Amino acid sequence: MERTHHFEGLLILVVILALGGLYLWQNHQPAVTVAVPAASATPTNVPPADWQLALEAQVALAGTPLPTPDVNLPTYAPPTLPPAADPNAQIVEAGEIPITPWPTATPRPATIAPAVAASVNGATPFPSPTGVAVVDTGQIEGFQPPPEQVPISRQPNDHYWLMRPVDASANSESIFFYPYGSDGPSNDWRVHHGIDIPNDIGAPIQAGGSGKVIYAGKGGEVDIPAGWDIYYSYGNVVVIEHDFGYRGQKIYTLYAHMSSIVAVQGQHVEAGDIIGLIGGTGDVSGPHVHLEVRLGVNQYFTAYNPLLWVAPYLGHGVVAGRVTDAQGEMVEDVTVTLTQGGRVAQTTTTYIDAKKPGQLRDWHVVPDPLWNENFVMSDVPEGDYTITVTVYGQRYTRSITVNAATTVFVTLGPEIPATPQAVEGNP
Ligand SMILES: [Zn+2]
Repeated sequence: MERTHHFEGLLILVVILALGGLYLWQNHQPAVTVAVPAASATPTNVPPADWQLALEAQVALAGTPLPTPDVNLPTYAPPTLPPAADPNAQIVEAGEIPITPWPTATPRPATIAPAVAASVNGATPFPSPTGVAVVDTGQIEGFQPPPEQVPISRQPNDHYWLMRPVDASANSESIFFYPYGSDGPSNDWRVHHGIDIPNDIGAPIQAGGSGKVIYAGKGGEVDIPAGWDIYYSYGNVVVIEHDFGYRGQKIYTLYAHMSSIVAVQGQHVEAGDIIGLIGGTGDVSGPHVHLEVRLGVNQYFTAYNPLLWVAPYLGHGVVAGRVTDAQGEMVEDVTVTLTQGGRVAQTTTTYIDAKKPGQLRDWHVVPDPLWNENFVMSDVPEGDYTITVTVYGQRYTRSITVNAATTVFVTLGPEIPATPQAVEGNP
């Protein structure tokens, strides 16, 4: 009996060990290696983000209007500046900075990829104007700079004459939630007269084209010439009057919020010359360069959409368009969605209060003199897309083809008001 009891005890122990081992074997989690997506010029198998899936599911519905997806997203936290560094450490002499021209610039390093948002504020993703997160899905991974040197004008209305103000190895994508003509995600910011390109403090800012540095200093200084709009809110700012004009008008570019100004007032610069370093001076929520393109006079109300002036990436084009109501008036602040194969490629919003012909100086944004657009999306990969907008509860859709380094222009809205449309919510 004693032996049997021992044997039974042993048997129970063996069974317990076997079951425990089986449990551990079944539940063992192998060590997960967090892989940073490798740079690729034509990324494939990029998993869709939650906001994309939600949008796509609802875009696929027959009903209108386009939805604001109900996606739980982390609250947007504005970028915060790192602790004040030794200010002298950021002062760089122009002659000490090697200039990297576009053709030899390297792809963005993996340490910056893949989350553009995260690289700036540690909180990803950025919310779009509709509350939809617009995340860098990795599609700008591995971008090589465009082989074409600016200027590019492949059709009469095009004027992609300016380089991006940051090198291709830095983040050169403007943030989506505050595009030109937008008043921000909560409609309480000033209407944006430029584009914001977030980067780390100290990243070089390059001249978009050749010209004379007509201002290099703090915004809002007393000695700023009359008639020049260079406000305190720009922080450290550089303005270039370019060597080239457009239809008899001068072209100015303005680069704001620098941590350090490299260019010297009166200096002549070439495209790509380093004129300053990314910073967060003036009115900002985080480090970025605010770029304006001004035509005719060096003033805030002549700032046009930089996305129609800065060359897109190699193999990418630009979609511009006009969303109008039945009277042909531009419709403000509606979301324009670009999809490909049912997948959302990009979204933007139409301009707030675009300037109308004959209006005097005010705070409006100004459409391109030839395009007369009220939205622009840049850096759209070549291909066929569907573009969709909802105006007064009615959805309008068109098919478009995007070609590299050119603008495809699209008009959307009720061109012929056959019957009055029901008004559902705000346009
Ligand atoms: Zn800005």
